[in-house]
Amino acid sequence: MAQQDDVFKKIVSHAKEYGFVFPSSEIYDGLSAVYDYGQNGVELKNNIKRYWWDAMTLLHENIVGIDSAIFMHPTIWKASGHVDAFNDPLIDNRDSKKRYRADVLIEDHIAKIDEKIAKEVAKAAKRFGESFDEAQFRATNARVLELQAKRDAVHQRFSDAMNASDLEGLRQLILDEEIVCPISGTRNWTEVRQFNLMFKTEMGSTADGAMTVYLRPETAQGIFVNYLNVQKTGRMRIPFGIAQIGKAFRNEIVARQFIFRMREFEQMEMQFFVRPGQEMEWFKYWKEWRLRWHKALGMGDEKYRYHDHEKLAHYANAATDIEFQMPFGFKEVEGIHSRTNFDLSQHEKFSGKKIQYFDPELNQSYTPYVIETSIGVDRMFLSVLCSSYEEQPLPNGETRTVLHLPAPLAPVKCAVLPLVRKDGLPELAHKIVDDLKFDFATHYEEKDAIGKRYRRQDAIGTPFCITVDHQSLEDGTVTLRERDSMEQSRVKIADLHALIHDRVSLASLLRKIN
Ligand code: ATP
Repeated sequence: MAQQDDVFKKIVSHAKEYGFVFPSSEIYDGLSAVYDYGQNGVELKNNIKRYWWDAMTLLHENIVGIDSAIFMHPTIWKASGHVDAFNDPLIDNRDSKKRYRADVLIEDHIAKIDEKIAKEVAKAAKRFGESFDEAQFRATNARVLELQAKRDAVHQRFSDAMNASDLEGLRQLILDEEIVCPISGTRNWTEVRQFNLMFKTEMGSTADGAMTVYLRPETAQGIFVNYLNVQKTGRMRIPFGIAQIGKAFRNEIVARQFIFRMREFEQMEMQFFVRPGQEMEWFKYWKEWRLRWHKALGMGDEKYRYHDHEKLAHYANAATDIEFQMPFGFKEVEGIHSRTNFDLSQHEKFSGKKIQYFDPELNQSYTPYVIETSIGVDRMFLSVLCSSYEEQPLPNGETRTVLHLPAPLAPVKCAVLPLVRKDGLPELAHKIVDDLKFDFATHYEEKDAIGKRYRRQDAIGTPFCITVDHQSLEDGTVTLRERDSMEQSRVKIADLHALIHDRVSLASLLRKIN
């Protein structure tokens, strides 16, 4: 674990050093859980967004996009349940004065028991070697059985308390399990209180009677309140979807793990409207399809897993997360939820407007059911960054830091490097840049020795380096160096475009999912 923490720290500092992610307001000592994307970060982020947007809107004839405003009528958040129920249970430690989410303290405690069980299993696997039967060991080993029983009991009490919003029950569980504050090490806990995560602000001057408005905590409601507009003007027939990418804001109690949990972040959400009764079929479809989207990036199939929800949100009748193996464990990157007709019905009720669909095939009207896919851009960014980062030992004893970014997502696709800064090599290199720049993000770099320039491009994940040398002037060929294998081949300048396109185009990724 300590080693993993170490790697994560390195990734965070690499992200800063190479212009991917900066702490917000850094010269004023930062603003907690808010981050800015730098010159390379914004390109990577835009490429992730483009990959998602094109996968949704180009690969599905029945999905269209919108861009709704961040400010919305405050009644929307009353109707959606956010004003009354978008809460986290918080608890303070009186000694350290630190604030925690009570549910997270308990989840971490359960994870520790899981770790202990995993350790016992790993120890036994080592001892017994090939003949080890894990299932039998788990079913019979006294220590494992004892830990498992304890884990199940804690988990049951936790789910019961969460489902019943029993704040005292959560507190009692923390006390009974002797969970201590990681900072002070004490059990001097306050009561558990509910804390609403929405940011409030005011619209209009006080003289006019200012109205309290919220910064949206999710982009989904902007889609629901535009359902009728899009359905009518786009002549959409069910099933159809509406996609949106945009900022969301949550006043998270404990913000940690870099851009994993932020107070201002970005979501990519798609609401898919279906006939009532068909939602489970579509839930299954989207669950599988979204995982295919992730896996097409080639970051390793074993790094993903589903986590089906036991405690369903008030609006859902099925929900799963797609989790990704971050350096700090498997964590949610995306949620897929079957939201029933909850949101549209609520907006119908609160707005007094009829929000129904007339289904010509059934010759009847109904409120559509909804499957939602919701992914955080920043968490996706973090998963790409973490799985790409490598400190690779080289045969000559040196180490290079390389980002094995999926080529279509890389901020820079190719760098053109004249071997020396004279003899007409820069001129030819510029000519190559001028030819490639319309289709690919292309960098020109002439400073420092060629090896150093390769390292700089490796560190930002540039898939290709093109080196122009004296032979290039004679026979119109250049050296094409590939980032991951570091293999170099001599290719014709005229072939560069096709060779690069093959590897870096978004279309090549999209074809893998279709
Ligand atoms: P968590 O349990 O981690 O708080 P959530 O279940 O509340 O997440 P959803 O409301 O389902 O998250 O939001 C959908 C997606 O938005 C998440 O899968 C995640 O990728 C992203 N997301 C949610 N909250 C944050 C945040 N504070 N910072 C960054 N991304 C977030």
